[in-house]
Amino acid sequence: MTTKIKATNIWKKFNNLEVLKGIDLEVNEGEVVAVIGPSGGGKSTLLRCLNKLETIDKGSITIDGEELCRETSGGTEYVKNNDVRRIACKMGMVFQQFNLFPHMTVLENLIEAPVNVQKRDKAEVIKEAEVLLAKVGLSDKRDVYPRKLSGGQQQRVSIARALCMNPKILFFDEPTSALDPELTSEILKVIKDLAAEHITMVIVTHEMTFARDISDHIIFMDKGLIAVEGSPKEVFESEHARMKEFLGKFHQG
Ligand code: ADP
Ligand code: MG
Repeated sequence: MTTKIKATNIWKKFNNLEVLKGIDLEVNEGEVVAVIGPSGGGKSTLLRCLNKLETIDKGSITIDGEELCRETSGGTEYVKNNDVRRIACKMGMVFQQFNLFPHMTVLENLIEAPVNVQKRDKAEVIKEAEVLLAKVGLSDKRDVYPRKLSGGQQQRVSIARALCMNPKILFFDEPTSALDPELTSEILKVIKDLAAEHITMVIVTHEMTFARDISDHIIFMDKGLIAVEGSPKEVFESEHARMKEFLGKFHQG
């Protein structure tokens, strides 16, 4: 089995706030990992450090077999800028707030990075983008601007946009938190279909049933540490006090 993400002893602080306190994580090819836990625990920061939207202070990260940074006695050392950029291109990210380019049509949103960052052939990328739009059920929205779309549609565009980079790993940061329940289920279905295709994914979510059904491995993060991890069964049956308290909040509703 190929390891797609290997992170060892990663530390990150903002000013004096220690947000990640020595995280170890390994994700294999085709695996779906759900990250759960209370707000402020460092889930988004972990994702952003793995996909190089943030740099870490200490530790090592290897992505798709390539070293992104290596732990040193003083902290960490990143590889050369060109290599960092190339490795970062292997990872796609879907955000809670969609983050589409408002001044571009749906199709333009999809092809922007593949054409301008990855320097791929435009006609070829357009063909691929059209296939992806069909896959998320939005072929008819190809030439529409994001503001004309519902939140669920915008999020489906943003998933198609991430896929258009042909990523080796896809990260989702609370992809349904900005959506009402009806639109949430349409997004969860798209993500489930991707899981069935064995795309490697790391998903931060507050949808506990979804996390349990979709993931091979669940990580419960609390205060910058992985407090509990394992199979969905192991994690949901864990006797860990903070974990039970956290899950209890979901069962009341
Ligand atoms: P989660 O996603 O689990 O809610 P975050 O990773 O967003 O947690 O945040 C963890 C902590 O780091 C919080 O206290 C948050 O305020 C802080 N934090 C996150 N990003 C920044 C930043 N860019 N600058 C300063 N503090 C930050
Ligand atoms: Mg977050």
